[in-house]
Amino acid sequence: MIKYLICWSLNHVPRKRLQRFAQLLTRTTSIFYIGNKVECTICGRHYRKFLPYGYGKLRENALCPHCLSLERHRLIELYLKNHTEFYKGISRPNVLHVAPEYCFIKKFEKLLGDKYTTADLESPLAKVKMDVQNIPFPNNTFDVIFCNHIMEHVYDDLLAMRELYRVLKPGGWGIIQSPINYGRTDTHEDRNATPDERKKYFGQYDHLREYGSDYSKRLENCGFKVLEDYFARNLSPETVKRYSTSREIIYLVKK
Ligand SMILES: [Zn+2]
Repeated sequence: MIKYLICWSLNHVPRKRLQRFAQLLTRTTSIFYIGNKVECTICGRHYRKFLPYGYGKLRENALCPHCLSLERHRLIELYLKNHTEFYKGISRPNVLHVAPEYCFIKKFEKLLGDKYTTADLESPLAKVKMDVQNIPFPNNTFDVIFCNHIMEHVYDDLLAMRELYRVLKPGGWGIIQSPINYGRTDTHEDRNATPDERKKYFGQYDHLREYGSDYSKRLENCGFKVLEDYFARNLSPETVKRYSTSREIIYLVKK
């Protein structure tokens, strides 16, 4: 029943309302997940297991019932804690968070206060209404940028990357993750594909492209220095099991 509801809401609830709707759903179901086998790196709550999640085929043990974090969010949180100065810095950085994931918002707001800017084209969770292809901030504004799982949706992803580079301060850094098919060397895109074609070729009705291993190159061509960080592959099996984290490469960009 829970699986059916998650699958149904992913395919039928408009994207911009999905996170609020999902939280209502998952918090009521969390009673069935009481336990201490897995733990969320972001909200700190523990469960018997996480909820299943995914478009089409559901992944088991993926979604935190409390904060809605997924495997990739819990990985990023571990990375921020262990491999960056994000939580350790003395002065608060000026942060731009594009299409902010629900699980991070409260935590980042508490940490950064008015130095935290959330922005999105349509999400009601974001403070600034913004097209990432045309960012309404001056050059060199932000110390840190987060923009995850957006580029595959954007009409002109290279323009968006150049815009992110423009508003990042020299010396600033960011994390720009996208789904990548490592079996592919070149990115395959069709900006004019129909939703059915997108689902068929790019795996989701609203994806305009499928990135290949040239993803870093695309970021570099827009100005960034890119570090492909294999942080996830060096985590112990116990850590991966406890936090149910993804194994993806982290794309750390710098200016
Ligand atoms: Zn959580």
